[in-house]
Amino acid sequence: MYRIGIDVGGTNIAMGLVDESYKIIEKKSIKTSENSSPKEMIRAIADGIRELIAGLKSISEQSESGSLNDLIDAIGIGVPGTAELDTGKILYANNLGFEDVPFLTELKKELGHELADKTFFENDANAAAIGEYITGGYNVPVFVMVTLGTGIGGGIIINGKLLRGCNYAAAEFGHMSLNIDGCDCNCGRKGCFEDYASAAALVEQAKEAMKSPEGKESLLWKGISTIDDLDGERFFEAVKAGDKRAEAVLNGYCNYLSEGLTNLINILQPDVIVLSGGITRAADLFLDKVKDKVAKEVYSRASKINTKIILAKGISDSFYVGIIGTSLVYKM
Ligand SMILES: [Zn+2]
Repeated sequence: MYRIGIDVGGTNIAMGLVDESYKIIEKKSIKTSENSSPKEMIRAIADGIRELIAGLKSISEQSESGSLNDLIDAIGIGVPGTAELDTGKILYANNLGFEDVPFLTELKKELGHELADKTFFENDANAAAIGEYITGGYNVPVFVMVTLGTGIGGGIIINGKLLRGCNYAAAEFGHMSLNIDGCDCNCGRKGCFEDYASAAALVEQAKEAMKSPEGKESLLWKGISTIDDLDGERFFEAVKAGDKRAEAVLNGYCNYLSEGLTNLINILQPDVIVLSGGITRAADLFLDKVKDKVAKEVYSRASKINTKIILAKGISDSFYVGIIGTSLVYKM
């Protein structure tokens, strides 16, 4: 049997046909523009699904099965917003410009009844957590994944079930405030975790440091002509080269990240917090600091057992995480 995973992003829709050993055997990518209406996007996704299934023809001809649909176990779609499972609507997805769109309902109509029953959708960060939980072979009662990217997202899985909350909007870790007098967040609050501890926030903090008088001498300026050329990779190169400004920025960042993770641990006491996102490729430069600070601050520090903070071990490439995670959402 095969599954189809579809990761809908602001600029791109990644789709793939996945086999039972979580290998992507066929993939496709569709460009979306900000102007794509929900209708156009749904039609493009349905066409993509049909193409992937048609690609299975040769396989199905060699198998006993008469029907192509018998080869498809499930189709999963990850969306960057709140996926309301009982109504099939995307309530709000700011980077798609969607509000109250009957996305799943319309897609199911477009696909026809045979595939409709096998089609599921889920918030993309939840889908990534499901993918990591299943492919990483975790067998723990309380699993939390925190993804550090442009923002901070994540998922909570308790006793093998995704925690969706009363309205499917659970696990928006990024919008936990660390400072009510802090900077303005795009959610309307102040001082949210993601404004301090996302990968994008780290780069912003480094840029601030570069503008200071001492920052002018920093290695952060090495090889770039304007401040906007700074990215995560260059930032970590400066840290590796022993640049004091970059190190100070990273220490500040670790404090914010530890603060947010400590809050999560104090509430959930998970067996494991898995960190994911491109920034974790440089984790050898900051993970131990974060773990030390969390260990000192967490409420349960006297306990014999405490939360393990580890890096994602399932699928590391973000393209694959999206496809494989969504292909598995039907399991929860
Ligand atoms: Zn916020």
